[in-house]
Amino acid sequence: MTEELAFRGFEYAAAPESRAIVRLDDAYGLFVGGGWREPAETYTTISPASEEPLAHVGQASAEDVGAAVGAAREAFEGEWSALRPAERAKYLFRIARLLQERAREFAVLESLNGGKPIKESRDVDLPLAAAHFFYYAGWADKLEYAFANRRPRPIGVAGQIIPWNFPLLMLAWKLAPALAAGNTVVLKPAETTPLTALLFCDVLRQAELPAGVVNIVTGDGRTGAALVEHPGVDKIAFTGSTEVGKAIQRELAGTGKGLTLELGGKAANIVFDDAPLDQAVEGIVNGIYFNQGHVCCAGSRLLVQESIQQPLIEKLKRRLTTLRVGDPLDKNTDVGAINSAAQLQRIEELVAAGQQEGAEIYQPPCRLPEQGYWFAPTVFTNVAQSHRIAQEEIFGPVLSVLTFRTPEEAVEKANNTAYGLSAGVWTEKGSRILWTAQRLRAGVVWANTFNRFDPTSPFGGYKESGFGREGGLHGLEPYLRFDEDATEWGG
Ligand code: NDP
Repeated sequence: MTEELAFRGFEYAAAPESRAIVRLDDAYGLFVGGGWREPAETYTTISPASEEPLAHVGQASAEDVGAAVGAAREAFEGEWSALRPAERAKYLFRIARLLQERAREFAVLESLNGGKPIKESRDVDLPLAAAHFFYYAGWADKLEYAFANRRPRPIGVAGQIIPWNFPLLMLAWKLAPALAAGNTVVLKPAETTPLTALLFCDVLRQAELPAGVVNIVTGDGRTGAALVEHPGVDKIAFTGSTEVGKAIQRELAGTGKGLTLELGGKAANIVFDDAPLDQAVEGIVNGIYFNQGHVCCAGSRLLVQESIQQPLIEKLKRRLTTLRVGDPLDKNTDVGAINSAAQLQRIEELVAAGQQEGAEIYQPPCRLPEQGYWFAPTVFTNVAQSHRIAQEEIFGPVLSVLTFRTPEEAVEKANNTAYGLSAGVWTEKGSRILWTAQRLRAGVVWANTFNRFDPTSPFGGYKESGFGREGGLHGLEPYLRFDEDATEWGG
């Protein structure tokens, strides 16, 4: 028996996580001013793994968005901005603890509505979401020290638009710093993944957050556009595609509203010939197959030194045969469902382009479920820099492999992209890590690891990956205005 067959013969018993912990309502309204507002229109949100309808969700109109912005303004000018910062912190600590207490319920719902494997929702999304609230709770009453002599003040009402790849985690990334800084918020989840944001409204109720401090309006891109256009919003924070990010930037030009954009990426994961190959293979797999590759900072371009290409690719292919694709609620699943039919179509289109342009495709033998949206883990070798699969964000479980001979060539190829969000470097030599990291034009550079996140660490991009930082102290700054006159004595 070949080694590959031996791996394939390794059967796992089903280990499904129970859905019983989640109680879904038939229909959800819009969370405005601390209560539920009836939307005029609704749509059905589904499970991408089974296409089963889960609930009816509101499609917020411009009028609904106006009501949410009004509620946020009222809360900002009323109780919230007058609250002592230490009291504000208590709400954030409460939210963090409630997320920890209800973690299993949130993790199951996240996997159900978004298609990601339960082991990722459970071990990555939920702990990190709680950690963001804990971290920013700690800053709420220390802003004067964090920004000494700059007199930090909240900016007012923040409009926040988030994508479908990390629904609850992106909510936490956005809400925690905004609230810690003393702002109120109107948040729009992605059309395909609204359910954990709606469940989060119950956490807000339990935490007794004052009405109107956080408002959640569900809907499609039209709801997002209405939020961007609303004159009562002081700042927009957006995570999503570069195309929509550019449209938002055009819309806001000249309005004086603040803007931060966290957009797409095409990260290079660079493996030098002295790297520990087995460790690198794990990093490559984590870099591109984590969350089905629906990750803005995914290591979607593998740059491997020519002399080790063959052994590395052999090891990688062998590792792919052991990835288990299937039911997101099964605790053994490594790769879950593609988030939507539209995203699956986009992945298929780009993969077909890769084949037409002459790259060589490899997919491990794996049985995909018949119902739902699925795509097998894929590796392309013989990829040229000019290929679409080397240039465009695929946002799926698809890796493009390119080679290099010298460190200079690796850096040149890694930077040859319109994006600049993240990168990875694999080598035994510390000096080479530093040499390479200094030359990579990416917001985050991981060394001998990939896709590591921490609330204390700023995250964001260059070039078409956007601007502004989330996480760490840097993540507070876009939610504050500064009275620089305070540098004068008595100012
Ligand atoms: P979008 O940029 O369309 O979605 C991100 C968010 O913006 C969603 O909440 C979306 O709502 C909302 N939105 C859409 N149109 C507008 C608008 N005109 N004004 C304001 N908000 C708007 O991404 P897609 O879901 O369409 O994904 C397309 C591609 O974008 C993916 O294939 C991937 O390459 C990339 N992407 C990158 C992400 C990242 O983190 N960098 C995240 C998501 C996607 P709705 O969901 O209702 O459309």
